[in-house]
Amino acid sequence: MHVLITGGAGFIGSHLADFYLSEGQQVTVLDNLSTGNLANIEGILAGINFVTGDIRDSKTVNELVSSSDLVLHMAAYLGVKNIMENTLESIDSNFMGSEVVLKAATKHKKRIILASTSEIYGKNSQQPLHEESDRVVGAPQMIRWTYSDSKALEEASAYVMHNRFGLPVTTARFFNTVGPRQTGQYGMVIPRFVQAALSNEDLLVYGDGTQSRVFCHVSDVVNAVNLVANDDRTIGDYFNVGGVGEISIMELAQRIIEMTGSKSRIKPVDYSEAYAAGFEDMQRRVPDITKIANSVGWKPSKNLDNILADVINFFQSRLQSWL
Ligand code: UDP
Repeated sequence: MHVLITGGAGFIGSHLADFYLSEGQQVTVLDNLSTGNLANIEGILAGINFVTGDIRDSKTVNELVSSSDLVLHMAAYLGVKNIMENTLESIDSNFMGSEVVLKAATKHKKRIILASTSEIYGKNSQQPLHEESDRVVGAPQMIRWTYSDSKALEEASAYVMHNRFGLPVTTARFFNTVGPRQTGQYGMVIPRFVQAALSNEDLLVYGDGTQSRVFCHVSDVVNAVNLVANDDRTIGDYFNVGGVGEISIMELAQRIIEMTGSKSRIKPVDYSEAYAAGFEDMQRRVPDITKIANSVGWKPSKNLDNILADVINFFQSRLQSWL
């Protein structure tokens, strides 16, 4: 089988590339190296077909899609900080780029897995969030939600292309995926806290730290993608993919300091200092994963301590390799 991974040099995409290569599949990665990083795939570069290119380049996308059997559409501008700072580019890439990929998959009748996000639920306070939960987002000027809006439109387009033209698509909504290779550069809390803790710098907790999240290990996400991709009964459907075990951001900071034996302190930071105008947080984000469990038997296998241990180990070994 020939697997095309858009965004395959990114965090989740590179783990998928590792997995499919280890399964003996032919892997092509398309990445414009904006949020992706060649270092994520340097260990497998010799074994894959790597194409530097943008998902908005219809000619390249059509060529690659037509010669693949399975498309994993992971390419996206993401990360709250990144979306706040690069709003126009992210809307363009996430929405326009995904249209190109989805249209190519429709034209060439290719099986495709669409990476979506828990952001689409916005700040809906009715938790846990299940697949039919409402989207609750702020005013358009609350630009944090542009990512949510782009991804929601992408999901809707995929859904219509499935219904009208038979696109064999399954949508996976990832909730706070974490693991080795994730960078804190675009805002994600765990790599930011772990890097700060390992350097004995302050851990910046935005707001009062009572907001909570549920984190999921990237290896569990890879497994979920593979299970839905292998099961044609999931075609046309959409699934939450998330972990178990809710934790407040304050408790998360404390746990990371404890696990790293760091001398860091926790520093509360007002949201207005952390982000430009147009940011609002959601207080809780808890996935209901009943649907994917019932459909393909997927459950996350790693808990928060496993996740943190892996991320700490990743950054520790990177620090050592620089010494
Ligand atoms: N957060 C924080 N310090 C940071 C980065 C994030 O306190 O250095 C908070 C952020 O405000 C949010 C939570 O951690 O409440 C998770 O943020 P992240 O950007 O990782 O994911 P998301 O908000 O998309 O769930």
